[in-house]
Amino acid sequence: MEKTIFEKIIDREIPADIVFEDDQCIAINDISPQAPTHILIIPKKRIPRISESENSDAGIIGHLMLVARDIAKNKNLNGFRLVINNGRQAGETVPHLHIHLLSGRPMAWPPG
Ligand code: AMP
Repeated sequence: MEKTIFEKIIDREIPADIVFEDDQCIAINDISPQAPTHILIIPKKRIPRISESENSDAGIIGHLMLVARDIAKNKNLNGFRLVINNGRQAGETVPHLHIHLLSGRPMAWPPG
């Protein structure tokens, strides 16, 4: 299977602005930021999307949320939004699970 763009970033085949990394995940600045802070938290395991995750992925998925929490804390983000786009209709463009961490501007509800 061809690598996703995020696997190529994880494997250092293409560059990215890395914010955080550990054995389970990597966090990078989004190349096309939709807010002053726009970070992607990406598992190193290739889970295509949340709807295709398995019960055994509970630990890594929880870890991604806690990494988002820690990044927000370290950056003193007051309000922030965590987003997962699941499927093309929801705006997914990269078939490798990732959490968007968005902050730094007012955000509308409901989202578009
Ligand atoms: P999604 O549309 O939810 O699948 O999110 C994919 C995100 O990946 C988009 O916000 C893109 O701007 C971002 N993205 C795509 N390629 C790169 C890249 N090389 N480095 C950083 N972010 C990227």
